[in-house]
Amino acid sequence: MSLRSSRVRTLADVTDVGLAAELVRSAARVTVLTGAGISTESGIPDFRGPQGLWTKDPAAPAMFTIDNYLADRDVRVRAWRNRRDHPAWTARPNAGHRALVDLERQGRLQAIVTQNIDGLHQAAGSEPELVHEIHGTIWEAVCLTCQRRTPMADVLARVEAGEEDPPCRSCDGIQKSATISFGQALDPAVLEASVHASRDCDVFVAVGTSLQVQPAASLCGVAYDAGASLVVVNAEPTPYDGIAAAVLREPIGRTLPRLVTEPGDA
Ligand code: NAD
Repeated sequence: MSLRSSRVRTLADVTDVGLAAELVRSAARVTVLTGAGISTESGIPDFRGPQGLWTKDPAAPAMFTIDNYLADRDVRVRAWRNRRDHPAWTARPNAGHRALVDLERQGRLQAIVTQNIDGLHQAAGSEPELVHEIHGTIWEAVCLTCQRRTPMADVLARVEAGEEDPPCRSCDGIQKSATISFGQALDPAVLEASVHASRDCDVFVAVGTSLQVQPAASLCGVAYDAGASLVVVNAEPTPYDGIAAAVLREPIGRTLPRLVTEPGDA
């Protein structure tokens, strides 16, 4: 099948693990965009999947806007409690994360652009320089006034000791996790590296993301417009399925290893 044919395609045309694996295996440079779905098998819930935090609690997104966080101490107190209890502190990487380490060892991984804040790609063994955390990390806290960064463990120790909304030790400013909330700008250097990696690949694989958050989702279009083949691995439909060469609605921990296994390894 021509990957860019204009005839109307059905899902059956593109639900082809063999085709997707062939695309990935024959590519010299693969860029991977990951989302919360790659970490659900490690016990970290996503936002918009059937068991997602926002699917279950539609009021939750309000906590993730920077204006509400700055204006409302109660929102911050709740956010610090959530951070203290976050499953990322004990989660272990799964087969999906490890498959991307294998791809890197094969010398074909251009970059991982991750929307995740959990650090599981690095924990699995991915080279930190190849992991662009486009929405930041939960492993650090940042002061919203002086930008001082502090290991999250140090701030959570203060929460455990009874400080409900621990201020910055340098300037007394409001602190939050070093993640991007709605209304906050992305780090321009991380965004630039992510766009570059998306333009500069043969195959772009979007994994475990509903592709509803911009500008991260638009990287699929950046890669496609630059000539890359798009592969989507996600349990539910995404807005970019229509331009994908392959769409695999299978569990990630089972599917991703099949895509990166070298011929003869299977
Ligand atoms: P999302 O919640 O919008 O979508 C996740 C998608 O993954 C859903 O479509 C779901 O059906 C699919 N999915 C879940 N588990 C799967 C599995 N095992 N196999 C196949 N598909 C699976 O997530 P998003 O697109 O990344 O956007 C949400 C935002 O939430 C991101 O900005 C991210 O920073 C943040 N987030 C991160 C984490 C994390 O770091 N682990 C967790 C929750 C949310």
